[in-house]
Amino acid sequence: MDKAYLEEKLAELPLYFYGYIDPKTLEFSGRIRYICSTECPMYGKTWACPPGVGEVDRCKEICTGYDNCLMIGTIAEVRDIADIDETLSTRPAHEEITNTVREFFREQGVEPYVLSTEACAICENCAYLEGKPCRHPDRMHPCVESHGINLIPTLEENGLEFQYGENVVTWYSLLFFN
Ligand code: SF4
Repeated sequence: MDKAYLEEKLAELPLYFYGYIDPKTLEFSGRIRYICSTECPMYGKTWACPPGVGEVDRCKEICTGYDNCLMIGTIAEVRDIADIDETLSTRPAHEEITNTVREFFREQGVEPYVLSTEACAICENCAYLEGKPCRHPDRMHPCVESHGINLIPTLEENGLEFQYGENVVTWYSLLFFN
């Protein structure tokens, strides 16, 4: 993995942050999974969300099985962050950037394990609801929270925040690799 090449490519993107983290320093918490199951309308609706992604212990095993992780972050300004539609409308741009970064890895023959934002929206109706395998496992990204990851301590360690002001939306993705 040529990190110099990767960073050259990352510098071309509108990222406000990128940095490497040790997967073993991530905090995995059953509490995050509890929030998914009690507060998220997408729980149990896609392969990108719990319980489809597996138990938190299994998710932790997958993530910490990698030697390295690239965290990327984007920000977007909205008129009113309480307007969910407007806030979510900034998500596709982040997903596109995440896909672009994933291709930077693939160009080097490295297949990263990618966690991104929210539930998968590639198909109109997720195959999970039909009890069938994911139709696009090479494109689908589970969300960071689905794996029980509490990103706040990692953000703090990197001098970052989840919220940068009233009308600023922040999105983060994690790309695990060896
Ligand atoms: S790619 Fe389609 S089948 Fe796979 S998780 Fe996303 S919506 Fe579901």
